Amino acid sequence: MVQNSFNFSAGPSVLPSEVKLRAIEELAKNGADGFSVMEISHRSDRFHKILHSAEAGLRRLLNVPANYRILFLSGGASMQFSMIPYNFLTTNDSADYIVTGYWSEKAAREAEKCGTVKRIFNGSPDGFRVIPKGSEIFANKESKYLHYCSNETIQGVEFDYVPNVEIPVICDASSNILSKPIAVEKHSLIYAGAQKNIGPSGISVVIIKDELIENSIPKRLAALDYKIFAENKSMPNTPNTWGIFIIGLVCEWLESLGGVTAIEALNKQKADSIYEVIDSFPDFYQGHSETSSRSRMNVTFTLPNSPLEEEFLKQAEVIGLYGLKGHRSIGGIRASLYNAFPLEGTEKLAEFMRAFRLKQI
Ligand code: PMP
Repeated sequence: MVQNSFNFSAGPSVLPSEVKLRAIEELAKNGADGFSVMEISHRSDRFHKILHSAEAGLRRLLNVPANYRILFLSGGASMQFSMIPYNFLTTNDSADYIVTGYWSEKAAREAEKCGTVKRIFNGSPDGFRVIPKGSEIFANKESKYLHYCSNETIQGVEFDYVPNVEIPVICDASSNILSKPIAVEKHSLIYAGAQKNIGPSGISVVIIKDELIENSIPKRLAALDYKIFAENKSMPNTPNTWGIFIIGLVCEWLESLGGVTAIEALNKQKADSIYEVIDSFPDFYQGHSETSSRSRMNVTFTLPNSPLEEEFLKQAEVIGLYGLKGHRSIGGIRASLYNAFPLEGTEKLAEFMRAFRLKQI
């Protein structure tokens, strides 16, 4: 079937059509007991299998070592901005934050409510266009952890390495998890809101090392305590059962395609096709990020002025290219190309960008 419209939204974003069909089937035809997954107890055997399958899928795809727990927590990645300092930072402690964009700055501000935040890199004065080099990162040895965001969804800058420091490393991987292999063992905690590459909104995946759980501040409020979630296998209370079900389906879909290495190659191809047009017309399309820091998930660029950008967005929608408006904080254009976004969509956008440029001459 020829697809005519494409969803470039930054999240909630496109889901694989195979997953949507399976979800519809599940809702419509019910399980052997006569009920859909949205209606069954989270304590039932049937749901336990669903949870186990989602967890096992993530574990295989990301090669998660046995001494890490995978937790499904309600709430978005912003909840983790709060839970991380709340679980690991007292007012006498400090944490290091690498600030490369809007989201890592937001995470840092939240942590300031619990302890001292040391911004060991801050890309703000340069407009968040760059990821620091690994050799520029020095952690404070007394800090409880180092936090970084592996892909800044708004600015479109992405790490291609894991910071190598002596303190626990925590990563917000909301917008590039599952898009390529990731060295889980170099982290103490990786978290991601699901609504880009893993599933629906309102649920987050947290991959956490046992040792970090053991070092958390004891007796936190129960609904915000990693230890309680780990001890109760994500279910001290009712989890987002539907979200976990969809995450399991997304993992099955990704494994059927060949996993994260296979999707990485496709993601590179998709992003390259847009960057190639940006580079071909440097007087017209201006990429936001420096070339070495370019994101494969969120391609961000501007046109010479806002009326042209408005026109670009209007004409794009006419031919079925939706969700290209940049985030309200920086404007411009943003094409989000998550795992489920098809190659034909990027080809169509690239063709449109060329034609739009040529029409202005
Ligand atoms: N971190 C990153 C990298 C994000 O892109 C987002 C949302 N787009 C968030 C955190 C916040 O996620 P949520 O809205 O699910 O709280």
